[in-house]
Amino acid sequence: MSSKLCVCEAIRDEVKGFSPYTAGKSIDEVKQAYGLDTIIKLASNENPLGTSPRVQDAIKLYADYAFRYGQVGTPNLISAIAQHFHIHEDSIVTGNGSDEVIDMLIRVKATPGKSNIVAFDPCFSMYQVLSNLCAVEFRQAQLKTDFTFDWDALLNLVDDNTSIVFITTPDNPSGYAPPVEEILSLHSKLPESCLLVVDEAYMDFAEDLETYSMLPRLAEYENICVLRTFSKCFGLAGLRLGFGAMHPNLAEYLRRIRAPFSVNVLAEQAGIAVLSDTPFIEETLRVTREGREYLTNELRALDFTVYPSLANFIMVEAPVDGSYLNEELLKRGLIIRPLVKGYNLPKHLRITIGTAHENQVLISALKEILNAE
Ligand SMILES: *Cc1c(COP(=O)(O)O)cnc(C)c1O
Repeated sequence: MSSKLCVCEAIRDEVKGFSPYTAGKSIDEVKQAYGLDTIIKLASNENPLGTSPRVQDAIKLYADYAFRYGQVGTPNLISAIAQHFHIHEDSIVTGNGSDEVIDMLIRVKATPGKSNIVAFDPCFSMYQVLSNLCAVEFRQAQLKTDFTFDWDALLNLVDDNTSIVFITTPDNPSGYAPPVEEILSLHSKLPESCLLVVDEAYMDFAEDLETYSMLPRLAEYENICVLRTFSKCFGLAGLRLGFGAMHPNLAEYLRRIRAPFSVNVLAEQAGIAVLSDTPFIEETLRVTREGREYLTNELRALDFTVYPSLANFIMVEAPVDGSYLNEELLKRGLIIRPLVKGYNLPKHLRITIGTAHENQVLISALKEILNAE
């Protein structure tokens, strides 16, 4: 029995023709392509202040430990997270970015070829990327035209084989956040076997956590999981660190299947250090909230449609063609995020809130581009 397929053709069906995650353009890419020295990147929702000084000290201090394996399950980091967020250690699972936790949840909860996963459209594309990889059907309910959540449309897609429903709040790419009561009302209508994953990657930036965050109420519910990341407010995107908080029994299954050292020793120490750096966190929130208001006002004055956002980015529709505008900004060394790829929104752009200076440079560039029209 000879197979005619060569090694690179004999590949799992789900992997052939697989669409990867598309990230924002990198600084080096734009430097090279446009022959520029200085770049302002407002594309990937990173922290405008850079890396916390305490994190930099911790990384230097622990550089000597790079040859050691870390402790399985990052127990020291888990106690720091438990203290900071007032949640139970048993409920926390850390990951190499919250992307890894999303991947673990899907592999633990969903059966290939049988289960389905439900989310809104558009949504953070990793839910779909990782569902596809697992051969799990991914169903999407259209958001309303103002990017608020159509709960009925979402519920219509849920059946007894729905293993996970993903909600992002504040949402990416719009920045919209529903009151947590609405999410609880959705939860009450889901089958008991279905896990509701509430991805709070940007919740740190919302001012009124009482109204919007599920995390403080988590212990009351068995089938809700909240995701948080260190990539955004905490400024550790490049080190890869996130966590999920969930019922201890579910957490136990994730711990069983996880790759043992996926959170590396420097990421663990960096996570502990940044949680202790209250001045850095407070300054991040201040700069982000002030910048969000500044950009919203200035962009509206330039005839952009600006969607209200509780996150560290804003989604806009430009008064001129979005891809033209994006190209003109790239020529001037400014990277923002067009939403064609991954989100299928050709007219919309997502702009990360930068420092006051970066935001001003963006507005001046936009004025120049729009006047030259
Ligand atoms: C950025 C982001 C994440 C976090 O990803 P990491 O893997 O932790 O860097 C998760 N969910 C959403 C919606 C995001 O935008």
